[in-house]
Amino acid sequence: MSGVIFLGTGGGRMVVLNQLRKSGGFWLKLDDLNILHDPGPGSLVMAQQLRLKPRTLDAIVLSHRHIDHSNDVNVMIEAMTGGGFQPRGRLIVPADCLNSDPVVLQYVRPFVEITEIKKGLEITIRDIKIKFPISNMHPVETYGAIYTFSSGRLGYIPDTEYFPELAGAYSGIDFLIINVVRMKNDKRIRHLNMDDAAEVINEIRPKKAILTHFGLQVLKASPERQARIISEKTGVDVVAAYDGMNVDFDEMKNKKWF
Ligand SMILES: [Zn+2]
Repeated sequence: MSGVIFLGTGGGRMVVLNQLRKSGGFWLKLDDLNILHDPGPGSLVMAQQLRLKPRTLDAIVLSHRHIDHSNDVNVMIEAMTGGGFQPRGRLIVPADCLNSDPVVLQYVRPFVEITEIKKGLEITIRDIKIKFPISNMHPVETYGAIYTFSSGRLGYIPDTEYFPELAGAYSGIDFLIINVVRMKNDKRIRHLNMDDAAEVINEIRPKKAILTHFGLQVLKASPERQARIISEKTGVDVVAAYDGMNVDFDEMKNKKWF
């Protein structure tokens, strides 16, 4: 069984600091592998509320060091490793999460196997392949990922400003999770806006695209309405994530193939 459950769908300062949406990232179950991506503030609390078991995690992945993506990384490493008494699992992060002003505390590092993300890195954990296809354009080192599992390929595009090579790096994926923080562009902030997201989705044309990581502008404009507009415009099945939402990738596969 493969799917994703959202421990948060908020992004941007106003939404996260006021917890207008939760901000715990998302939990992937791909075949028998459990991976937590971008554990922002409240990830541990949401995982417990949703009755997920952090001790079953195989890996924690940070797309980048910003606090809405990394705040709970240390406590989740402890939760994954029985408070550090049972070292296990992987931590997969850009180098700047470990070096100057690190977000990963020194004392938790011996509890996990640490891998630094570089553009083009490919790793395999049991039968799941993870590729980091391109560097995003964001104020800190930021990488998305493509997961290959038995029911297909899932891409995640985290925070970035639009750039022409972005969609091509994710070609051929079946499912897409994409962070859409804003409605309008602001060059200082370096995020995708809704029109950028529509363009990227239209170029990649996955079976299903899931919008998440909403800032205040997007919440005010109704993420569900925006998803419908992109669906109508592109013909791709687009949905807006909500806190606690679960998407079953196997069910999607069966719908398409039978
Ligand atoms: Zn960011």
